[in-house]
Amino acid sequence: MRAARLSAKRLGRPFRRRAALLPLVFAVALAAPPGAQAQPRVPPLALVGHLLPESPDPVRVVVIDPGHGGFDPGSPGADGVLEKDVALAVGLAVARALEGVPDLEVHLTRDRDVGIPVWDRGDMATRLKGERPGILLSIHANALDDLNTRGVETYFLSEARTEHERRVAALENAPAAGGGDGGATTTDDPALAFILNELRNLDHIHWSADLAQIVQERLAAVHPGRDRGVKQAPLAVITNALMPSVLVEVGFVSHPAEARMLMDPDFHAAAAEALAEAVVEFFERYPPGASSGEVSGAGSGR
Ligand SMILES: [Zn+2]
Repeated sequence: MRAARLSAKRLGRPFRRRAALLPLVFAVALAAPPGAQAQPRVPPLALVGHLLPESPDPVRVVVIDPGHGGFDPGSPGADGVLEKDVALAVGLAVARALEGVPDLEVHLTRDRDVGIPVWDRGDMATRLKGERPGILLSIHANALDDLNTRGVETYFLSEARTEHERRVAALENAPAAGGGDGGATTTDDPALAFILNELRNLDHIHWSADLAQIVQERLAAVHPGRDRGVKQAPLAVITNALMPSVLVEVGFVSHPAEARMLMDPDFHAAAAEALAEAVVEFFERYPPGASSGEVSGAGSGR
């Protein structure tokens, strides 16, 4: 349950976030009975006045989730490369690439080789985000029996439409099911169907698809493998994150050359730069109505 905050800019304005308490403070004041003035329950207005927000909170939150870890190695690849190690290396590099971006708070669900139950990750991201605009970026690597397949693909939460999407959902959800034989891969699962329906009523699917498109474009531009496009699947890790959420498969550990690349620090840096740029680009349009340009300069702090 460890979360590393690598960058927390402009969080030194301690009173702004307490402004949400003001309605409660005034409600208590109105409810105080006449004559109950011996111990005033609320501070004088002169004291609470400086708690009023000057402007909406400009801070955006990005939760980077390196997939698998610890007891859960993820997909095994060529030459002993493990998905969990690729995910952690890329995740740490993305966090570094986002250091110094103004008004961006960056968290990692894990910064070392520890296991986190897959259903806990979305909850963790939701708690870290709080009431701020934020996103979850879950980082994974793919595997197939066909060792010639390589490339990058990005998922957002929806029903799987193809056999490949169903297979990836089964792989990624396997730890959630407590075994290695699949898991909640279709909406035949009533609990998952309920969650999917709830989320459809929110705006997150739309924004997740938008984020997935940006992530895919940016990463494919620096990736030597094929651009496999944006895909949809009911992935446990992003299902219960109440924010735009995507899962990116940064390559295939099953492809021998790509497995070597996925352990190469040069690739980690290039992929991280691309993903950091995607995050910044997304926040230029999200949340809707926010002035653009609040967040800029991905990688400038590197
Ligand atoms: Zn994975």
